[in-house]
Amino acid sequence: MSTFPQFINGEWLASQKTRANINPSNPSEIVGDYAEADAADVNLAVQAAQAALPTWSRSTPQQRFDVLDFIGSEILARKQELGTLLAREEGKVLPEAIGEVARAGYIFKFFAGEALRIGGQAIASVRPSMEVVTSREAVGVVGLITPWNFPIAIPAWKSAPALACGNTVVIKPSEITPGCAWALAEIISRSGLPKGAFNLVMGDGIAGKTLVEHPSVDAISFTGSVGTGKLIAQHCALSLKKFQLEMGGKNPLVILDDADLNIAVECAVNGAFYSTGQRCTASSRTIVTEQIYPAFAAAIIERTKALKVGAAIDPTSQIGPVVDQRQLDKNIHYIAIGKEEGGTLLAGGERLPGEGFFFSPALIENHNPQARLNQEEVFGPVSTLVKVKNFEEAMQVANATPYGLSGGICTTSLKYATQFRREMQAGMVMVNAPTAGVDYHVPFGGSKASSFGPREQGGMALEFYTKVKTHYLA
Ligand code: NAP
Repeated sequence: MSTFPQFINGEWLASQKTRANINPSNPSEIVGDYAEADAADVNLAVQAAQAALPTWSRSTPQQRFDVLDFIGSEILARKQELGTLLAREEGKVLPEAIGEVARAGYIFKFFAGEALRIGGQAIASVRPSMEVVTSREAVGVVGLITPWNFPIAIPAWKSAPALACGNTVVIKPSEITPGCAWALAEIISRSGLPKGAFNLVMGDGIAGKTLVEHPSVDAISFTGSVGTGKLIAQHCALSLKKFQLEMGGKNPLVILDDADLNIAVECAVNGAFYSTGQRCTASSRTIVTEQIYPAFAAAIIERTKALKVGAAIDPTSQIGPVVDQRQLDKNIHYIAIGKEEGGTLLAGGERLPGEGFFFSPALIENHNPQARLNQEEVFGPVSTLVKVKNFEEAMQVANATPYGLSGGICTTSLKYATQFRREMQAGMVMVNAPTAGVDYHVPFGGSKASSFGPREQGGMALEFYTKVKTHYLA
């Protein structure tokens, strides 16, 4: 067991308090003992970021490219080791964990390139002898607040564009999974980035709140639950801070009568249960038209029951544990709710033997779109089956939640696929693909209660991390 300090102003600083990070596959195993920031630590980190801003915001695109490219290369070179850490602290099965680490590496590589492409526009003036051009500048000190379910990809997809645009960063990862963010900070500490340009404070929601409310923080990029997102939005709106929120989902996967059954079952199982269902883009509602329903239900029940749940680093495990006791209790609680409101448990939904937080992937049949299990995000391996008459009813049900992150359809009809893409109220739509599989270099985000502000990832991420200046040249 080791103690991992915070990274502030280019130095590793111990804190008054620490918190043990446990392995959800084996809770008696401590992954590490991580520093817990108090308000004074957050303040020091913000001051360091402020002091580094003049240097880093004036750095050349080449300097930014070199730093980000180095970080990306290091992450990729160590994907096995970091993937193992991720599996141990978050519970993703090893191939998924290594995949997430690789994604983080490629994100840094992508934004290394983007640092060379930040530009403006030349716009014809309405006045003779006047030229108008726009440029993009860093926003300033940005606070990044991240959840536990993608403990390296999300810190990467926020900090890489932030640094590419010349901002300085204070990041506060989830207290449940600080290890990957710490490993990222360790790599960044050797990247040539000026001291203070990237700071890591670990700790709970209070540390996050202190960061959000700090008067010297210019922008907040947040990923997490809607409840926390709204609190952050309130504060940022009143203090006129720029903010961006990526939040929850209740993503539908629609299966039409004409779908290829094998593809449909594959998409449903992957979307609902891989990463233990702990993905904001997980398909937690499978909406199926009536003719294919019996065959689809029989096939998915069989597949779900056959999924092997086990320790994240066991190569035979397909589904790892849920992240902690709280999430385990939440899953169990929602199964009870599902039964109380008239749903039929078709598979799983039970705490499994063993010390780890193991829970069998659950399928619940409930055809009422307003049932709580069809409305509220469980954020675990729990999915409903909803039978509908036809495409039109499927669309109504698919759109009948406050969320709008991702949505998918399985069909062989071009007409319905096209109509779904137009009518689905979501930021990302998938045709014959799981709702949860996204590329690392394209815009990511949702609509309705799932997201607020500009897109993350891809070239569009630069929108949030820059401010535009218009120049008039007579
Ligand atoms: P959460 O409880 O909202 O926490 C997210 C982060 O906010 C954590 O670092 C948390 O710190 C911090 N925090 C808590 N209270 C805060 C406050 N008052 N002010 C500032 N920061 C505060 O969410 P979570 O349980 O970690 O993550 C699960 C949620 O994230 C799900 O709803 C999921 O759908 C969503 N998510 C969305 C996306 C997306 O891109 N749309 C991606 C992944 C996950 P502590 O945890 O340390 O207390």
